[in-house]
Order: sequence, then C-alpha cells, then structure tokens
Amino acid sequence: MKRVLLLGGTGDALTIARHLGPQHVYSLAGLGRTPADLTCRVRVGGFGGVQGLAAFIEAESIGLVVDATHPYAAQMSRHASAAAVLTKIPCWALRRAPWEPQAGDDWRDAPGFASIMQTIAVFKHPLWTLGREPLDHLDAIPSWQHWTIRCLDPHDGNARATIIAARGPFSLDGERALFDQHRTDVLISKNSGGAATEAKLAVARERGVPVVMLQRPPLPPVEREFTSTVTLLNALDAFI
Ligand code: NAP
Repeated sequence: MKRVLLLGGTGDALTIARHLGPQHVYSLAGLGRTPADLTCRVRVGGFGGVQGLAAFIEAESIGLVVDATHPYAAQMSRHASAAAVLTKIPCWALRRAPWEPQAGDDWRDAPGFASIMQTIAVFKHPLWTLGREPLDHLDAIPSWQHWTIRCLDPHDGNARATIIAARGPFSLDGERALFDQHRTDVLISKNSGGAATEAKLAVARERGVPVVMLQRPPLPPVEREFTSTVTLLNALDAFI
C-alpha cells in the first residue's frame, strides 16, 4: 500500500481527498476552511520550502505526491515537483484546462498587475476577482474609478473600493446582480478554468463587458498530468 500526499486548496482537490483512506495525507496551506469530515489525515500549513517538503515526504514514507493546487499556486507546484525529484518519488498533477474565449467575448491578456492597471485605466467600475492582490493597491486607485474586489478576505475597503468577501461557486443570476449593483464595466480575472467561477464570464459576454485575463504562470513538468478528477482517481486506484 503506497501513501499519497495530496496538495490541495481547490474544490477538485477536496473531491480527490474524499476518496482517500486514513493512510493518506491531504495538505492545505491554511488560507481557507479545513474540512473536518475526511477519512484521510489533514495537515495544514507550509512545509518550509523544497527541503521541508522533501523531509516530510521521507519522514512520512510518502510514495506519491499529487499536486491538485490552483493553477496560479505556482510556487507550491514547483516545490512539489522539485521535492519529488529529490526524494525519487513520482509527482502527478491535476491541471484544469483553461477557459477559452467564445464568440462575443472581449478578452485582453495581461502578464501581471502593472499591465492590468494600464488596461483598465479607461474604465470606471472594475470588478476584481483575482484574490487578495488588489487589496495591496487600494491607495493607487485612480480618482475616476471605484473598485469592487471580490476575495476570500473580509476588508473595510475605502472611499473608492468596496470589498466583497465571498467564496464560490457563483451562480449566473448572482453574477448578473453583482454586475448590475456595481455597474461593472470591466472584469479582471485569473484563467482558473472549471465551472465554479465561470458564470462571471458568461455575464461579461452578455453585457459586452471586457475581461482582463491574468496569464497563467508556467508550471513545472511532472510525471503524469491529468485534466479531470475522474481520470486522476482511476489512476490513483491503480497506483495504490
Ligand atoms: P503558492 O504561492 O504556490 O504557495 C505559497 C506557499 O504556501 C508554498 O510555498 C507553501 O509554503 C504554501 N502552500 C501552498 N499550498 C500548500 C498546500 N496545499 N499545503 C501546504 N502548503 C502549501 O500558493 P498560493 O497561490 O498562495 O495559494 C495558496 C493555496 O491556496 C494553495 O494551496 C492553492 O491551491 C489555494 N488557492 C490558490 C489560488 C490562487 O489563485 N493562487 C486560488 C484558489 C486556491 P512552503 O514553501 O512553506 O511549503
């Protein structure tokens, strides 16, 4: 019986974790909720870089690392790949397919925050759905803009920023109401892929609202890559 270390922090990872027995370990960074109803062991918090993760793998006799972190959690993915090489065990990854633009979409690629700021300069009511990063820039909001920032963290905002602490999945009607209430004229998004947060893109399409899409970070090579939890779970059954 081989022990699996599952790196999580996404809904897909939680789906996989629900299939793991007590000998396996599900690891979370500690930013969100920690599920209390899993059969597998749950550990929370960073490992202390590649060396710390490699030490954990050896101490716990882990035989396989499964990286099911978010596609933008590139540091954890790099560490997982490097620690697996160091400890000579395989590393698999669940890598959600990115969303693709459809007819009627007006998507503008942005490599980073500075580029996003340039692209949105002509708009008045940006809706940010990147996570907490825009909270660090509340003092840099141009005088003609009011930002709406949706992220996990509650925050008071300021005179030019409304913060909405919320966690997906988000419905189409809910997203329509959000765009209406905040008069959204540009949406800023990661290209997360998956269904849980996709409705905002449909609403942007309906309304002709441009989407500024933060480019995905490069991810390290792994031994096996999966795009669906079902195929990954089948491969896990065969491996364990
Ligand atoms: P990151 O930049 O890739 O990782 C930062 C550090 O957090 C890692 O070096 C590691 O610390 C620790 N860490 C990350 N995931 C961990 C895990 N599953 N178990 C134990 N330690 C972990 O990650 P991030 O972008 O801050 O995301 C943090 C977590 O939130 C991830 O687990 C990710 O799946 C989830 N998440 C991220 C996003 C996003 O947009 N980035 C969106 C939804 C969910 P050490 O170096 O000390 O080991």
